Amino acid sequence: MSFELTKLPYDFNALEPHIDARTMEIHHDKHHAGYVNNLNAAIAGTDAENKSLEDILANVSKYSAAVRNNAGGHYNHDLFWKIMSPNGGGHPTGKLADAINKDLGGFDAFKEAFSKAAATRFGSGWAWLAVSNGKLEVCSSPNQDNPLMDVAECKGTPILGIDVWEHAYYLHYQNRRPDYVSAFFNVINWAEVSRRYEAAL
Ligand code: MN
Repeated sequence: MSFELTKLPYDFNALEPHIDARTMEIHHDKHHAGYVNNLNAAIAGTDAENKSLEDILANVSKYSAAVRNNAGGHYNHDLFWKIMSPNGGGHPTGKLADAINKDLGGFDAFKEAFSKAAATRFGSGWAWLAVSNGKLEVCSSPNQDNPLMDVAECKGTPILGIDVWEHAYYLHYQNRRPDYVSAFFNVINWAEVSRRYEAAL
């Protein structure tokens, strides 16, 4: 069994002006495709070959650095494309909104914490909203690590993530990572994040 590149659920230009078409094209067709190809090469002939992506991540300390980086890269980008939408933005509703109020002190406090986690992650990595022991947490991780990994500092099920590698924003935003993070809030697909929240509970 080999992993396959996620089909982008909208056109490259669908998230403009918040994320530009050229960035989306390179990010999906070159970067994400590279993680998938390198993951398949790294697991070939190993016992990871017949495991699910989630199973590999949960035991990632047993595998090579190439598996860790590329399994994380594939999972993270698959999530990233799906939790964005041209019809995104606004606020979460329902059980997720209630949990943000209860666990994180409300939407504004969540937005501030998430934006800070994204802005202050040094170098390349991701900021996350994750479900950990039934509660919401905001955190960040380096490189292509994520909260599903057994090596993660913050463990849980990620339901929202932002890629803060420079390849995710540099063409349009250059060094202005906080502007990219702010724009990201206009494309968050809260219906999908809510679905993932309820599935994670
Ligand atoms: Mn990326």
